[in-house]
Amino acid sequence: MTLPRLSIEGLTKYFGEVLVLDDISLDVAPHEVVCLIGASGSGKSTLLRCINKLTEFDYGTIALDGVSIDDPGWGRNGLYRRVGIVFQSYNLFPHMSVMENITLAPIKVHGIARAEARANARELLAAFGMDSRGDAYPEQLSGGQQQRVAIVRALATHPEVLLLDEVTAALDPELVGEVLAIIRRLKAEGMTMVIVTHEMGFAREVADRVCFLSDGRIVEEGEPGTLFSAPRHPRTQKFLQRII
Ligand code: ADP
Ligand code: MG
Repeated sequence: MTLPRLSIEGLTKYFGEVLVLDDISLDVAPHEVVCLIGASGSGKSTLLRCINKLTEFDYGTIALDGVSIDDPGWGRNGLYRRVGIVFQSYNLFPHMSVMENITLAPIKVHGIARAEARANARELLAAFGMDSRGDAYPEQLSGGQQQRVAIVRALATHPEVLLLDEVTAALDPELVGEVLAIIRRLKAEGMTMVIVTHEMGFAREVADRVCFLSDGRIVEEGEPGTLFSAPRHPRTQKFLQRII
């Protein structure tokens, strides 16, 4: 058994008195794609935010390549470089060009030389079919293009794990496909990903494993074929009946 890329054990988090993550344990192998599904409020976003240290948690451990994310050796920015996150709202800086959006963190936070950061960004933009858009500003792009830029921005530090939180939820239906195509491609290239999605068809296609969250717990997990066709837990059954 190879060392998990990401290892979560007994993760527990309260917001005030409210228990939002209840003893979550989850290992993600290198190159594995895990999809998190579950009703709104079940804790999916909070789980991703804990992995990326955007939110603190109360109990449990999270480790990347066997090293706790709280290990001082990472430094705050070291972890951000190796674990990328993309949100539903693309959060691009509106007053910066695409190129500036992508190179900001590599240059300012991670100390990469400007020329190198720009060359890397150009390469990524070309790889994702946006060679000509480096000088554009976010408002000049469609929602789908903006979300693709947000994903490229997350890739600019060459992360080992990518966390995607409902990245297609804010898009017009006709623009969803171009973002899903990028995720498919990242999977083909071996990116380790934890993906929160309401696109069940896509989860079924891209996931190696699906976890169903309810009230802060993983109540069922399995291969997508099994979980979607023959869910065992009554809550999973009910959720899937409602959503599909
Ligand atoms: P999901 O992404 O599955 O919709 P969230 O992780 O956003 O769920 O939320 C899980 C629970 O935590 C919900 O009950 C939500 O109201 C609560 N919650 C999320 N963020 C905060 C916060 N910053 N302060 C207080 N409660 C929060
Ligand atoms: Mg959420």
